[in-house]
Amino acid sequence: MSDLIERWIRPEIRAISAYHVPKAAGLIKLDAMENPYPWPEAARAEWLEVLRRAEVNLYPDPRGTELQADLRAAMGIPPEMGLLLGNGSDELIQMLALAVAAPGRTILAMEPGFVMYRMIGRLAGMDYVGVPLRAADFSLDLPAVLEAIEATAPALVFIAYPNNPTGNLFAPEAIERIIAAAPGLVIVDEAYAPFTDASFMPRLGEWPNLLVMRTVSKMGLAGLRLGYLAGPPALLAEIDKVRLPYNVNVLTQVSAALAMRHRALFDEQCRAIRAERASLMAALTAMEGVQPFASEANFILVRLPEGRAAQVFAAIGARGILVKNLDGAHPQLADCLRVTVGRPEENRAFLAALAAALAEA
Ligand SMILES: *Cc1c(COP(=O)(O)O)cnc(C)c1O
Repeated sequence: MSDLIERWIRPEIRAISAYHVPKAAGLIKLDAMENPYPWPEAARAEWLEVLRRAEVNLYPDPRGTELQADLRAAMGIPPEMGLLLGNGSDELIQMLALAVAAPGRTILAMEPGFVMYRMIGRLAGMDYVGVPLRAADFSLDLPAVLEAIEATAPALVFIAYPNNPTGNLFAPEAIERIIAAAPGLVIVDEAYAPFTDASFMPRLGEWPNLLVMRTVSKMGLAGLRLGYLAGPPALLAEIDKVRLPYNVNVLTQVSAALAMRHRALFDEQCRAIRAERASLMAALTAMEGVQPFASEANFILVRLPEGRAAQVFAAIGARGILVKNLDGAHPQLADCLRVTVGRPEENRAFLAALAAALAEA
């Protein structure tokens, strides 16, 4: 077996560790930026009716034409722009990488940032360059980014807006400078669009190399796996050639289309999450010894007293709450945990567990 693996599995694949998703059964799950609110009963009944009529014996519409129309109406996608659907935005990142990958070509992203840019770039055989954010506040180090663009001429630049796992928005003027300087495609990743008023979606078309990527995961449909990429139609038509023919399944297409027609419901849930984010932030700010970072997303990054992350993470877990321990993930994330904004009672349970964990020796 190991002969087979060594002979045939590419060294760069053998070298990486698989993306690890921890067990969450029975825990209050505040680790993955999920929306904690279910659909109300009436919407659920309508959804079951839609599913009852879905024809799973047939292949799905390859481009999700109806869903595209509902997404365009619900999400403010400029009518002159092209649209491409993915099995989650993770798949769109993969399509982008496969469309441009060649030896010596580079993906550039900010660090600490979303780990899939690096991982997918490596899988596609590309080089990866991570430009550090400023240590004090995780803002963009524009001179360093421009220098890295000059040095590596990246095929793809990913800018998460707001950024994960730090939660902040980068200065739009700095992003404009990056788009103008980059020789390749710049993808503004708006996975957390439901939790901020800032967006580059209305600015599509101002630069020929700007694309905007979003997902329905964080607004409350993580289980459906649906991402979308908007940008100049000719460019998207090329990336579309990489797409596997039926990448978005029938159940996802009809469910997401219905959800888009119930947009107000999700807007209401996301408003509640934003209000809860403010309460959680206020409580963390008032807590002795912890430093929360301002967030425009549905999570908050929290720095703990030095050397305490593993103990506090374990103690919170022992009290039935799962958050993300980022200590060790990147030098700038030392002593940091990331907590997803949950329901009020979940956030209270987290705060109580955190206070108790900090009080332990
Ligand atoms: C969660 C996340 C995604 C992935 O979204 P999916 O559509 O669920 O694959 C992409 N980008 C960022 C920055 C994220 O945090």
